[in-house]
Amino acid sequence: MAVISQSNQFPTPVLAEERGLSEPPLLGKSLEELTEWVQAQGQPGYRGKQLYQWLYQQGARSLQDITVFPKAWRQAMEAVDLGRSALHHRVVASDGTVKYLLKLADGQIIETVGIPSAKRLTVCVSSQVGCPMACDFCATGKGGFMRNLATHEIVDQVLTVQEDFGQRVSHIVFMGMGEPLLNVTNVVAAIRCLNRDVGIGQRAMTLSTVGVPGRIRALAAEQLQVTLAVSLHASNQPQRLQLIPSAGAYPLAVLLDECREYVQITGRRVTFEYILLAGLNDQPANAAELAQHLRGFQSHVNLIPYNPISEADYQRPSEASIRNFVNELESRRIAVTVRYSRGLDENAACGQLRASQP
Ligand code: SAH
Repeated sequence: MAVISQSNQFPTPVLAEERGLSEPPLLGKSLEELTEWVQAQGQPGYRGKQLYQWLYQQGARSLQDITVFPKAWRQAMEAVDLGRSALHHRVVASDGTVKYLLKLADGQIIETVGIPSAKRLTVCVSSQVGCPMACDFCATGKGGFMRNLATHEIVDQVLTVQEDFGQRVSHIVFMGMGEPLLNVTNVVAAIRCLNRDVGIGQRAMTLSTVGVPGRIRALAAEQLQVTLAVSLHASNQPQRLQLIPSAGAYPLAVLLDECREYVQITGRRVTFEYILLAGLNDQPANAAELAQHLRGFQSHVNLIPYNPISEADYQRPSEASIRNFVNELESRRIAVTVRYSRGLDENAACGQLRASQP
């Protein structure tokens, strides 16, 4: 394991409760909100712009770091929480993917992954501590659910990767720990902040969901430009239910109807994710059934060959059966891409994230 640092380079934040504070952290606030905040502290309005720049561009972790502020005020405001998490652990996989374990103010641990490629730096962000969906092939679900992430805890993940790489983040995927549509309010607020304040285009963001009844429609109403990715993973309801417990209360046909509505409302195509599990959902008949569902649907299929986790004994299909599945879909005019996950040797790949210590 390539342990680069087990660092206390970033100090562990003091809990807000320990300080007797109840104010939410400053990270996540807009320029206007920060300006109002500094004015409420009796400071001139232009300090709002300074705070904004130090928070989102300069990597300030506490008000003490903001050296353009008067010393006396910085000292008086010592207890103010900017909302940055502590880096608990960092590992680099052989393909350059970096996995971060971040410690939140209440001691919970989440995972974030930085994925560099020729022209991109993608961050795979978590939206919850753990996940309640309990999909049978996913390590996160095996560990249970703790809580939703706050807006600042989502934004912080992106800033952490950006600072560590010393490079601007170009893409964000909500494919880390958790089910984003169970935390819609904070996820949408984080998307807006990352777009408006960190400067990342909404079109370069993808939100992945296994589906929560009514929430895809609710997301459509937000009028975002992000890509919606839906974790389908099966070509019929009984098979989906076998893999995804929540499919019982949200049958495949209803999920697909809601996706069609999403396309109608937003005019944006939907991506369908489909994990390939050998001998289970990778048969030509599955491809034919999947194509049948997606006929005339403005969509794209991403096939994800299964990444092994210790708690499940599924297998990744052979290259020949993956190719065969692709051919079956293409012959039915379904747009399809095979997505090989990055970071496999350090358990940083899709489905391998968990809230445990390394
Ligand atoms: N809860 C959301 C986002 C997190 S998972 C969702 O389910 O979409 C991000 C993607 O990784 C999903 O498509 C998920 O199904 C996939 N995934 C989970 N476990 C995996 C595994 N063991 N191998 C490959 N992909 C996996």
